[in-house]
Amino acid sequence: MTTTPILELNQLRVCYGKVEALHGCTLNVSAGQIVTVIGPNGAGKSTMLNAIMGSLPASGSVDGSVTFLGSDVSAYATEERVALGMCLVPETRELFTTMSVADNLQLGAYRRKKAGEKNYMDQLETVFTLFPRLKERRTQAAGTLSGGERQMLAVGRALMGKPQLLMLDEPSLGLAPLITKEIFRIISQLRLTGVATLLIEQNARAALQVADVGYVLETGDVVLGGDAADLAVNPKVIETYLGLG
Ligand code: ATP
Repeated sequence: MTTTPILELNQLRVCYGKVEALHGCTLNVSAGQIVTVIGPNGAGKSTMLNAIMGSLPASGSVDGSVTFLGSDVSAYATEERVALGMCLVPETRELFTTMSVADNLQLGAYRRKKAGEKNYMDQLETVFTLFPRLKERRTQAAGTLSGGERQMLAVGRALMGKPQLLMLDEPSLGLAPLITKEIFRIISQLRLTGVATLLIEQNARAALQVADVGYVLETGDVVLGGDAADLAVNPKVIETYLGLG
């Protein structure tokens, strides 16, 4: 496994006013890896993603550093981070519901127009290979898709921008178990596209199965980190996040 760091968080602290939500988190994502951050409600997982993207609300202040592809991007605006190759798929998925699947995908590529039509078609083919369902439904309005298909479209649209780092905030949220399984199967295939993935999940079992590396975030602190396979057999993780099943 390659260990080139794509993303490095060093002592990342986030405060909302006087309330500190992240207490100094350090973690890395390397090229080609799937890294997951698991933890309960309110642990600070979405805060971490928003701090990485530079998209915290005005009340949020950040300390420590976010290094992306070797540059300290802590002071960069969100658009600059996106231009460098970061992309976040938020919990809310944020699709253009009255537009077709194909048009949503095209919008995902708008920053890469300069890369040319051939490049666009190649990336569209990659997305349709990962998500054949989107190809079948390409003329359908995004708002009429099922929950699972919407999640597929949100991830597909993000991939159209050819990011180097894809961040997924709770991709299984609100999805039925069978669809969740399908979404995780697709996430495991993201490695083949070369993108590094940072996956935030409450579904710890599925996330640790699919990831190379995992971190456990509890009330703003990274309390455990290591190979996802090791975390999956860690007694504390089993007791708190995996249950007996
Ligand atoms: P969930 O899984 O429920 O989405 P999370 O792990 O993503 O939880 P965050 O949403 O990052 O957790 O919240 C971390 C802490 O920061 C919580 O205590 C939350 O109440 C607080 N918080 C989040 N956003 C704000 C905000 N805009 N202003 C003040 N406090 C906030």
